[in-house]
Amino acid sequence: MKHVILGNGPAGVIAAETIRKRAPQDQIVMIGSEDEPPYSRMAIPYLLMGNIEESGTYLRKDIGYFEKLNIEQVRAKASSVDIKNKKIDLGGQSIAFDKLLIATGSVPVQPPIPGIDLPGVHPCWTLEDARAIAQLAKPGSRVLQMGAGFIGCIILEALASREVELTVVEMGDRMVPRMMTNVAGGMIKKWVQEKGVQVFTDTKVEAITQSESGLTVKLSNGKSLEVDLVISATGVRPNITFLKSSGLGIQTGILVNEQMQTSHPDIYAAGDVTEGIDFSTGERIVNAIQPNAAEQARIAAISMTGGDTQSIGALQINVLDTLGLISSSFGLWAGAKGGDHVELVDLAAYKYLRLEFLNDVLVGATCIGTTEHIGVLRGLIQGKIPLGEWKETLLGDPTKVMDAYLGAGQAQSSWMN
Ligand SMILES: Cc1cc2nc3c(=O)[nH]c(=O)nc-3n(C[C@H](O)[C@H](O)[C@H](O)COP(=O)(O)OP(=O)(O)OC[C@H]3O[C@@H](n4cnc5c(N)ncnc54)[C@H](O)[C@@H]3O)c2cc1C
Repeated sequence: MKHVILGNGPAGVIAAETIRKRAPQDQIVMIGSEDEPPYSRMAIPYLLMGNIEESGTYLRKDIGYFEKLNIEQVRAKASSVDIKNKKIDLGGQSIAFDKLLIATGSVPVQPPIPGIDLPGVHPCWTLEDARAIAQLAKPGSRVLQMGAGFIGCIILEALASREVELTVVEMGDRMVPRMMTNVAGGMIKKWVQEKGVQVFTDTKVEAITQSESGLTVKLSNGKSLEVDLVISATGVRPNITFLKSSGLGIQTGILVNEQMQTSHPDIYAAGDVTEGIDFSTGERIVNAIQPNAAEQARIAAISMTGGDTQSIGALQINVLDTLGLISSSFGLWAGAKGGDHVELVDLAAYKYLRLEFLNDVLVGATCIGTTEHIGVLRGLIQGKIPLGEWKETLLGDPTKVMDAYLGAGQAQSSWMN
């Protein structure tokens, strides 16, 4: 049996290892398009902070690791997949497969802004991008970051540590608008401003032009800024362009079922490139975070080697450290139709907790300034535990989530016995 894995990020690597463990005799070929050993994008901020060397981003650090596991590595870029004849075109040569895993991740969205292609404008997605950013982001450099979403907030810390003069421009009405409530996004903005970062929300970058002293960035609020570096962090989308004429079922990402199988029985997909099923709504969702990639890769590999397992769906869990302020959101954090909520806000202390209920079940939450509730919130939401009278307790004091988890969980287990 020949397994071909397209993509050598976390999803590709975990799938290759899992297949090897389950099928010692099978042939495994892992293909990656970047001129690097398999690495973790998540580690890029630590590289920019100077906490690690490039080798610290590598997913597996032992020399000869993949050779010892008999996982063949190929450096090539797939340009199309012929699903009928089970072949991948690698730009000139082709490779056949019995089973294929597509784990080609995401690509940064490039907003249609004049000047977005100028030198000095970079996304922060690959090691190559990190090298270019490190060249330009020196102490005192003027840096403008477009976008204050998940990746944007993660790289703020790295930029701040390089002692640059930082401006963040976000077109949404708050920071992290697709992961945080109004109040929470506003708190993160205030925190970041207090740390010396200039933040414009409700503002778009309209054009970037080359100027004598660097780049001139024209904003929709009438301001123009002179900067040395623009970082484009305006979101990512599944990397599926090369599959457009393949005939595979694709919407925003590759559609997969609970076994990570695509519309073709011998082709699977895992990680950022997929559009799986949302745990909370049962609807389709692209969940581009690393724990999701790892879990989907494990499930795909088990399915590809004849095992029986399935995903429970992607539960949205977003945990963010923005210049030292920890925030998190879970499940239906923006609320469920017909549901109710409770909100506890302490602006001065940067503490926030909002719980979303549907009937007596906790379905979503947003949290700032504390990490102690994270496991319990996940447990309550993922377990769909009926809270009974504990819901009233939580409406009175939402910090009692641990008591509710223990109380309602125990009530459920005694009912089940
Ligand atoms: C700066 C930064 C910080 C992040 N921080 C976090 C974090 O704190 N928490 C978190 O959960 N997530 C974080 N992420 C997101 C996380 O990195 C991704 O969710 C994760 O990398 C997805 O893994 P993947 O294997 O699906 O895709 P990727 O890691 O993107 O890997 C895909 C691989 O496929 C290869 N490839 C692509 N196209 C082709 C082709 N046509 N042919 C062959 N090979 C191809 C690529 O070169 C790449 O190696 C961060 C991302 C960035 C950029």
